Amino acid sequence: MIFRIQSSQCRECHESLRGRRDKQFCDDSCRAKYHRKTNKPSPLIRQVEGILLKNRSILKELKQINEPESPSDRQFQWLRRHGFDFNYHTHVEALPDGRLAIMCFEEGYILDEHGVKPWSALKDALLSPLPG
Ligand SMILES: [Zn+2]
Repeated sequence: MIFRIQSSQCRECHESLRGRRDKQFCDDSCRAKYHRKTNKPSPLIRQVEGILLKNRSILKELKQINEPESPSDRQFQWLRRHGFDFNYHTHVEALPDGRLAIMCFEEGYILDEHGVKPWSALKDALLSPLPG
């Protein structure tokens, strides 16, 4: 009769493992390295992420330069000129007054019949006076 010693290897560094039989990695750092490699986002995910981050920074810029009372059609045109992509957002937030804010992370905008108004999920940003 042949006895084989069951030996398993770390899926990341291929060192032999001791301890529990269902163990797959020597430690948390090997586990993290392995998952970083195998969970690399696809090109599509990276592309969408890039658009969302760009939208977010355009919204932040809009909030900084535009007067809150500036007409919403002008704000809409400004966003378009700066390459804002209205097809992409992270989520929609219902405001207490019933309007909906279309969000890119914590920055967003509210649609009205003429255009858009910038909106931020950060309450501090709304309460602090705008520069200029
Ligand atoms: Zn390892």
